[in-house]
Amino acid sequence: MPSMSKIDKSDKSLTFDAINENKLNPDPRSRAWVEIDSKAIENNSRVLKKFIGKDCFLMAVVKADAYGHGAETVAKSALNGGADSLGVATLEEGIELRNAGLKCQILILGNLINKEELYSAFCWDLIPTISGIREAIICNNIAENNHKKFVIHLKVDTGMTRLGCSCNEVKELIDKIDYLENISLKGIYSHLAIADKDLENTNIPNFTKIQLTRFEKVLESLGARKRLLCKHLANSAGTLSDSRLHFDMVRVGLSLYGYFPANNFESDLRLIPALKVKARVTLVREVEKGTGVGYGHFFKTQRKSKLAVVAIGYADGVSRNLSGKISASIGGFLVPQVGAIAMDQMVFDITDKPDIKTGQVLTLLGTDGEVFISPQNWCDLSGTIPWEVLCSFRNRLPRVVT
Ligand SMILES: *Cc1c(COP(=O)(O)O)cnc(C)c1O
Repeated sequence: MPSMSKIDKSDKSLTFDAINENKLNPDPRSRAWVEIDSKAIENNSRVLKKFIGKDCFLMAVVKADAYGHGAETVAKSALNGGADSLGVATLEEGIELRNAGLKCQILILGNLINKEELYSAFCWDLIPTISGIREAIICNNIAENNHKKFVIHLKVDTGMTRLGCSCNEVKELIDKIDYLENISLKGIYSHLAIADKDLENTNIPNFTKIQLTRFEKVLESLGARKRLLCKHLANSAGTLSDSRLHFDMVRVGLSLYGYFPANNFESDLRLIPALKVKARVTLVREVEKGTGVGYGHFFKTQRKSKLAVVAIGYADGVSRNLSGKISASIGGFLVPQVGAIAMDQMVFDITDKPDIKTGQVLTLLGTDGEVFISPQNWCDLSGTIPWEVLCSFRNRLPRVVT
């Protein structure tokens, strides 16, 4: 019979007090979470607004739940910082922001194709992007039936080869749209395809220059008509690379969240990364040298080791491709992740930081003291781009706004 007498039940940290009803819902910080610094978003919005100058509008792009940061939080912080309008990808994203009480202009960057969607956009006062006459006619009919003008922006394809009418169609299309008297065409825009690629160069990259020239030519062909339109072209990379790309408005996503869209981009802009991914240690173990860790035993300990199990996995959005490649920070000390990242858990080797205890918090992404683990670090290791890393975090991870 094992002796029970050695168990100390009086350890203060382990004693259980009466149930407090308020504690029945778990603290969002109890397992793993995404922490959003709303002041950082506000700062970045202010910094970007100052950078583009007072004659240019700032559209905060908050599609895909604001790149995983939480659309409502980011939209409000960005507007507080000086953003003028919001950009979303889908109708539902626009409606979500209206339901959150936001009153500013909201442009839907995706293509709405059927009457029901366009009617819904009309009712919610969302601006659709139009690429051709088909949707323009639907919009006109909706507006006519409801005795109110339908505000739209027209998209022109200058080289992205995605949405937009072709450059040589624009003039004729606008003539037709102007003939549809219930439509109010308020903007014309295009989208840059490779502005981020060569941002390290001090000059505008060649293809971006070609897109700029095409866009300018289109505008020129409109004569005086263009003066009544909000003209916009630049994403984050375009915004940061050259003011000739700014026109009347810039549409900024990535940089609003605190990142530069290219590696090694030199800038004085004080952008602050707004997102952190944190998770708690759920178990600390000691194992012998030569012990296989996790599914597939992809890692075997090279020494007697101390391991920390952390409750976050690929179901939370940490790519399995990062297995054995990343580190996490605890108080500025980096500990390596070892073995395969599993659906809900992963393991860190804390042999060199043996004082780590159950319940302590590791920072997997973001700033922790002197250490900054950037989405770019993960991209370099797993072959993706920061945009994808940011919007990969699932809703199982609570968003905690600080
Ligand atoms: C997503 C998007 C943007 C923002 O791009 P970033 O590179 O994140 O700044 C701008 N314009 C359009 C049309 C987009 O789809």
